[in-house]
Amino acid sequence: MRVLTPTTVDEALAMLAADGGKPGGLTPIAGGTDLLVSWHHHAKNGMSLLDLSRLGAQLRPFRLTDGELDLGGLTTYWDVISSPEIAAAFPLLPLAARQIGAVQIQMRGTWAGNIGNGSPAADGVPVLMAYGARVVLQSRTGQTEVPLDQYYTGYRKTVRRPDQLIVAIRVPRRPRECEWFYKVGPRRAQAISKVAVAVVKDAEGWRVVANSVAPVVCRCRHLEQALTAGRTFQSPAEIAQVLASDISPIDDIRSTARYRATVLSRLLYFWLCEQRGR
Ligand SMILES: Cc1cc2nc3c(=O)[nH]c(=O)nc-3n(C[C@H](O)[C@H](O)[C@H](O)COP(=O)(O)OP(=O)(O)OC[C@H]3O[C@@H](n4cnc5c(N)ncnc54)[C@H](O)[C@@H]3O)c2cc1C
Repeated sequence: MRVLTPTTVDEALAMLAADGGKPGGLTPIAGGTDLLVSWHHHAKNGMSLLDLSRLGAQLRPFRLTDGELDLGGLTTYWDVISSPEIAAAFPLLPLAARQIGAVQIQMRGTWAGNIGNGSPAADGVPVLMAYGARVVLQSRTGQTEVPLDQYYTGYRKTVRRPDQLIVAIRVPRRPRECEWFYKVGPRRAQAISKVAVAVVKDAEGWRVVANSVAPVVCRCRHLEQALTAGRTFQSPAEIAQVLASDISPIDDIRSTARYRATVLSRLLYFWLCEQRGR
């Protein structure tokens, strides 16, 4: 296995460019909490790694201004959990972060790694997407920003080119009417989602984002449109009917399609009832 360890972002980008973007080429590794799980497989295939661990000074800090939160490409869950400023400005971020793995994973795992791994069960992605986050990709030839809800093109497929790194995640700071995140797993910690949902309503409208119910973490756009049009729902079944156009859950080792669709519609129904009662 080949491991390259750049000491600056420029050096890392030069290494990626020199690698030529071959399939199965140089793979960035941040916390390694996803990559290490399938290590035996990668090692066997002679994987080449771009170790980002020495880029912390450039990529780990986050910046919170009146207009946005800029999470660096190496910002960890723990960085967010331990920031009272972020908790005040974006409460769903630490709420989700605390439910990812246990403390060891929260200390090492990065938000960019959660996005980069492309799992439909990623728990950091729904809250970021619900807040309207954008992914900042950088290569030697320049920087580009992609809305997180346009980042995935299919199961574990993304728009990131092999010569690009996620150098930041930008979350716009705007007034919100309500926000909510709920994760359902087999237990309260160290559990991968059976289904999780994040909801934000702001001046741009509703964003309802669910994981584990489609090949990618997805916005439930038909439900968003119905809510924006002012529709109220009389039962979980009515929500399930609308959600049927948004989601395509499957049976797998963690759950069944029926359980996921039923739980998601019930969670949303009872939360919306609570909102109406306020
Ligand atoms: C015990 C355990 C429990 C877990 N529990 C959860 C959980 O509850 N919820 C959950 O969502 N996840 C969970 N995970 C998965 C994992 O911890 C997260 O997805 C984490 O955010 C991955 O971040 P990382 O920095 O470790 O990524 P890495 O493993 O380093 O990388 C993951 C992927 O992202 C790419 N990547 C990383 N950084 C960049 C970058 N800057 N630019 C471009 N590509 C990049 C890598 O090439 C790789 O493809 C768990 C993992 C373990 C081992």
